[in-house]
Amino acid sequence: MTELASPAAQDPVTKNGRVICHHVAEAAGPTLIAVGGLHGNEPAGILASLAIDRCLRETTPLATGSFVALRGNLAALAFDHEQPINNPRYVQRDLNRLFHHDDQGHRTPDHDERDALRDAIDAVARESRGEIVLLDLHTTSSDSPPFIAVEDSIPARRFAERFALPLILGIEEDLRGLLMDDTTERLRCIALTVEGGCHNSPLAAHTLEAVLLIALEALGLISPDACTCRDERPIETTRRAAGSHAHRVYDIRHREPVRALPYIPDTDAEPFDRVRAHKTRIARQAEADLFAAESGLLFMPNRQRDIRVGDDAYFVVRRVGRTWLRISAGLRASERLHHMLPKILPGVRHRPGHAHDLLVDPQIAAILRRELFHVLGYRLVRFEATPGLPRLVRAARAARFSLHALTRIAANLLRRGSTDDAQHESDEDWIVRRHVLDTEPATADQHT
Ligand SMILES: [Zn+2]
Repeated sequence: MTELASPAAQDPVTKNGRVICHHVAEAAGPTLIAVGGLHGNEPAGILASLAIDRCLRETTPLATGSFVALRGNLAALAFDHEQPINNPRYVQRDLNRLFHHDDQGHRTPDHDERDALRDAIDAVARESRGEIVLLDLHTTSSDSPPFIAVEDSIPARRFAERFALPLILGIEEDLRGLLMDDTTERLRCIALTVEGGCHNSPLAAHTLEAVLLIALEALGLISPDACTCRDERPIETTRRAAGSHAHRVYDIRHREPVRALPYIPDTDAEPFDRVRAHKTRIARQAEADLFAAESGLLFMPNRQRDIRVGDDAYFVVRRVGRTWLRISAGLRASERLHHMLPKILPGVRHRPGHAHDLLVDPQIAAILRRELFHVLGYRLVRFEATPGLPRLVRAARAARFSLHALTRIAANLLRRGSTDDAQHESDEDWIVRRHVLDTEPATADQHT
C-alpha cells in the first residue's frame, strides 16, 4: 500500500482541508468513501475516520483499493474547533437536505458546501479503480441506538446487513436531498447513512469506527480481523451497541416536521418506544400538545438544542418481518412484475416516457398504502401522506378494491392484450419508481 503522498495542492480531493485521509493500495479494488461532519455538531464521524487513518498507517495497510474520508460541512464545522459539539448543525440550510436538483431557494454557505463536497466525491470517483461505496456518518440528538438508513435497493439492503445494526427503510421518501440519495443516483453506487448513536455519547465514534472497519473488510480492502488496534471484533461492537435492535429492519410510516415554535420535546418518549396515534404526546409545539400522528415506534425524536421550523420533529417506524423482506426481494428480482402491475391493479398505470415509473390514482393509493409499494420494490417519488383509516372503512374499501382487481384481471385474460390506461398524468397521481440499483445493479453487489 502507498498512502497518497502528493502535496495537498496537487491532489484534487485534498483542497480546502476537506480530506481527512486518502489511502490507495497498489492493487486495484473498490473505493470506500466516508463522510463525517456533514452536520457541524456531529464530530464522531470525523473522529472515527481519523482513528481508521491511524490504523491504516500504523498497523493495517490497505490490501487493495482505496479509502478516502472527507469532512462534510466545513462552514458549520469552523465555528468551534475546540468543542465541535457546540457547532451549529448547519449555517442556514440543512446540508443533508440540499442534494437535489430543483433547489430554488436563495443561495447559502451550505449550498457552497454542497457543491464543494460533490466535487470532492466526484474527484474520488474519477480516480477509483473499482466499485464505490459511500458511508455518510452521523449521530443523533436523542439517545438512540445506532442504525443504518438506505435507499432501499436490494444491493444496498444486502450490504447494510453486514453491520448487525437496525436498518431503516424508506427515509429517502420523506427526506429529500440526502447525500446518500444523490450519490446513488449520480454514481450508481451503494450509499448508506449511518447514525452512530447520540451526539454526546463517547461510544458513538467507537461504533462508527467499527462500522468503517466492517465496510473495509466487506469490500476486501483489508483482510478479516486484520486490524489489531481494537480489543474486540468490530461486529461485536456494533451488535452490542444495537442491543435488541441488532439485525432488525424497520419501515418509515410517518415523518412530522416542526411546524411552529417554540418546540419543546417531551423527553419521556424514547426512540423505539411504542407510540399510539393521537394518544402519545411527543412535544409541546406553539403552546399546544403535539400527539403522535401514527401508531408504531418512535424514531429520531428531535432533541437538538437549536430547533428550527421545517426540521424533523419525529418519525414513526414499524418493524418489517423477515418473511416480508424475503418476499419483497423475490418480487423485485422479477422484471415481469413491473409490466404486470397495471394489468392487475386498478388505478395503476405505466408512466409514459419513464420506463421504471408507475402512476397510481390517489384514491387507490390510499387503500394500497405506501408499504405495499415498498414490498413490491418501489420508491414513492410523489405522494401524499395518507392518514390511517378506521379499520372498518379500510376493510370495506379493500373489499371493493379486490372486486375491481378481480374483474380487471378477468377482463384482461379475455382480451389478452395490453390494457394500460392511456390516461394522462395528473398532478394528484402518486408516482412510484423502481429503485435505481435494482434496475441497474451496482458492481459492489458481487462483494456482498
Ligand atoms: Zn447528522
